[in-house]
Amino acid sequence: MREFQRAASKIKEGNVVVFTGLGVSCESGIPTFRGSEGLWERYNPARYATMPQALFTLLESPQEIADFVIDFYEMFNCAQPNIAHNIIAELEQKNIVTYVITQNIDNLHQDAGSQNVCELHGNACEAICIRCGFKEKRTKEDIAAFTEGLKSLRKRWELLKYMMRYIGKCPECNVRLRPNIVFFGEMLPPEELKKAKEVARNCKCFIIVGTSGVVYPAANIPYEAKHSGAFLIEINIVPSYRDIADIIIESPACKAFEGISKYL
Ligand code: ZN
Repeated sequence: MREFQRAASKIKEGNVVVFTGLGVSCESGIPTFRGSEGLWERYNPARYATMPQALFTLLESPQEIADFVIDFYEMFNCAQPNIAHNIIAELEQKNIVTYVITQNIDNLHQDAGSQNVCELHGNACEAICIRCGFKEKRTKEDIAAFTEGLKSLRKRWELLKYMMRYIGKCPECNVRLRPNIVFFGEMLPPEELKKAKEVARNCKCFIIVGTSGVVYPAANIPYEAKHSGAFLIEINIVPSYRDIADIIIESPACKAFEGISKYL
């Protein structure tokens, strides 16, 4: 495919930023939350993914939150990085990709070996202190052990105590940590958003992968890159940036990165 070759020749010039969305994760088996197979079909997001309602649900009915937490984390824990994640990580090791900006919270870019990752919606493997920003990362094995333990508990106070102990406190401020996930209606973490815009403005080539371009303000980031003179490559089954993309590859992420990598 001629697009693969054209994209590869631009990518080879270096200073590339990759911007990823759900399309990349779904090829690792993570379903979209909103689809018919999605988590929000079974759990009402207003009750589980908005603050402070999620806290009320936790106190009122810890069993409900426990069921949700088990389903939520099992979905992530089963997922492994795919070829797209791996090629993106390799390109960083070769100093071609400088940064990954992701809207995903599944840690799959890091699992593949990417180090410079800007996470616009947080990271499901982390807990964060809202006062000082301290972050604590848990391994997927650790999270799996936590959800297994959760399955064996039924009593309200046992569940609450177990979940509270797991989430822990900030060693600096002694306040309760919370999952480092941007809940519905919450602002994106300002530092991450600032960093994302900065790297987008300073790159030579910007690759959009598997994002519908409808979730703002993240959806604006490709425009920041374009307006600063970057060359734009869009990889999407259904393209969303036709107005600004220099190359459009209408394909799933894995197939596209495999195709491009043959010319790198
Ligand atoms: Zn703190």
